Amino acid sequence: MKIKSIEIFPLKIRQGPVYLGSSSGLRKDSDYYVRPEYRSIYSRNLETLLVKITTECGIYGWGEALAPVAPEVTGEIIDKLFTPFLIGQDARNIDVIWSKLYDSMRERGYFSGFMVDAITAVDVALWDILGKSVQLPVYQLLGGAYRDRIPAYVSGIPKDTREERIKLALEWKAKGFNAIKLHLGYGVREDAEIAAYMREALGSSFRLMIDVHWSYTVPEAIQLGRKLEKLDIEFLEAPTAPEDIDGTAEVSRALDMAVATGEAKRTRYQFKDRLMKRACDILQPDLGRVGITEMKKIATMAEAFNTPIAPHLSVGLGVCIAASIHSSANIPNFLILEYQPTVMEVANKLLKQPLVCENGFYELPEGPGLGVEIDEDQLRSMMNR
Ligand code: MG
Repeated sequence: MKIKSIEIFPLKIRQGPVYLGSSSGLRKDSDYYVRPEYRSIYSRNLETLLVKITTECGIYGWGEALAPVAPEVTGEIIDKLFTPFLIGQDARNIDVIWSKLYDSMRERGYFSGFMVDAITAVDVALWDILGKSVQLPVYQLLGGAYRDRIPAYVSGIPKDTREERIKLALEWKAKGFNAIKLHLGYGVREDAEIAAYMREALGSSFRLMIDVHWSYTVPEAIQLGRKLEKLDIEFLEAPTAPEDIDGTAEVSRALDMAVATGEAKRTRYQFKDRLMKRACDILQPDLGRVGITEMKKIATMAEAFNTPIAPHLSVGLGVCIAASIHSSANIPNFLILEYQPTVMEVANKLLKQPLVCENGFYELPEGPGLGVEIDEDQLRSMMNR
């Protein structure tokens, strides 16, 4: 089943929701901006990279790489570096292809970032092809589903006042969700205050998580964690800088509550140190950055360290979300999957059959491959906008 063609679709959806709600820091002269409270560049658009790989027998698969900014960069890597190698390869040799692509720029220092994101888009498309070729869903190819509905937490309550935040959180609770993650990082005192009133409003059995986006020093993170423990917060995400493995380990050791990290990491090699040093209690690989093949390897390695996986999911659209669901079904040491309601809405506009997340659970797509079909007319019209 030889690969015949590879098409890339860098997507910038102008009318999309602004990720994490707030648009403070938004600029007039650029799509990109930095919010005063966080370090990362964000886009005013919803951006991603979709890839369609077609084989000589006509079976095709869709892949996606998480690309919140500059999806054309990831697309160029696939187009210029990968395509000449991939044409004519047997699409079923997924693991072999992953390794060869990874090896191709490794000694030059490209073993993360855009490079692995590009590999991810290819990897996901190849799994879709394999599933369609044998008429089985991807979760089955991975070894089966440990669960047929995937527990989900609502990510973010993008409102500015206490009253609005409580109101929106209670609306989610009324819709059957029992877990919410708050995106904070506004300072130890303010974060603890927000967590306290949300806990009071949602009740003691509701699952609450806090993401602080790498905002704190080690002492600040410990100080915040001690306050959050009293509120029974399930995990503290990204307390300190992503490179600071020892610092994160220190936070984790000092606290009884779980510390979660991993969205910035791409491969088993990068997760290894975190596990060896017991630097966190929960790993959060993002399927749009690690792919299906590497996600299984990371999860298996984490299982040996008795560490659960709570996959990160931010602005990936339908292909990425579907791949995350299949993968989550197959991970034995799975905890909970992130859910971005506004992103999902846009994702579903590009799919012929919508993905479903209701009453706190994602439903597992049952069709062959990823079980999602991209509406190509819609995709092309969104590309040209
Ligand atoms: Mg995060």
